Amino acid sequence: MGIAENLQEVIDNIKTTASACGRSPEEIQLVAVSKRFPTSAIQEAIAAGHTVFGENYIQEAESKAIELGDTWHVHFIGHLQSNKAKIAARIFDLIETVDSLKLAKKLNNELVKLDKTLKILLQVNIGADEHKSGVTPETAAELLRQVNELSNIQTVGLMTMPPFTDDPEDARPHFRKLRQLAEELDQQGLFLHNSPIQLSMGMSHDYHVAIQEGATIIRIGTAIFGQRQ
Ligand SMILES: *Cc1c(COP(=O)(O)O)cnc(C)c1O
Repeated sequence: MGIAENLQEVIDNIKTTASACGRSPEEIQLVAVSKRFPTSAIQEAIAAGHTVFGENYIQEAESKAIELGDTWHVHFIGHLQSNKAKIAARIFDLIETVDSLKLAKKLNNELVKLDKTLKILLQVNIGADEHKSGVTPETAAELLRQVNELSNIQTVGLMTMPPFTDDPEDARPHFRKLRQLAEELDQQGLFLHNSPIQLSMGMSHDYHVAIQEGATIIRIGTAIFGQRQ
């Protein structure tokens, strides 16, 4: 199957899963994760009507941004080193993986220079997985308070990547925990006001579970573009 067909299948699955649990499919944004795929693959997805993509590597995203221009809207979903903050501030529509004050401050400095406001998500290491980035659930509130002091960054939600297993059901308690954490932080008034709270969780193998647990952003690579090299 081609990229357009794969996309349609994912969109159909989102609708079916959302409807079955009483949610509106419009609440769920599909981010097509195009890391390690060429711009020709992205152009195929754009031709099929898709607009929002996800990338993990700064240099790769930067060269794609130059090639694709304004037709390309892209979220950063990889580990961001603060020495790459300057490029990141310029090219991304949403950075999903902020997990330190140092990084947030660097981003903010660059955003001020660009006279640009950027929405971000806080990455939470919800499964306490030593191989994953992200703040612990216990320190999320403190970091949010500090990030909220920064002039040009707006925190609109949380992102997580639970420990990988073959069984999507294993991710369910982690997704649930992320949603509960977001609710607690919201009650403390720590997210941008008058903006829906975003929960970025769920990938190709477990997005149906993530939707059932309240995901508003799902990040899908393999199911759209095929196996990565
Ligand atoms: C690669 C990646 C994805 C997409 O994973 P698939 O299993 O290919 O859908 C989603 N989120 C993050 C953070 C990733 O690095």
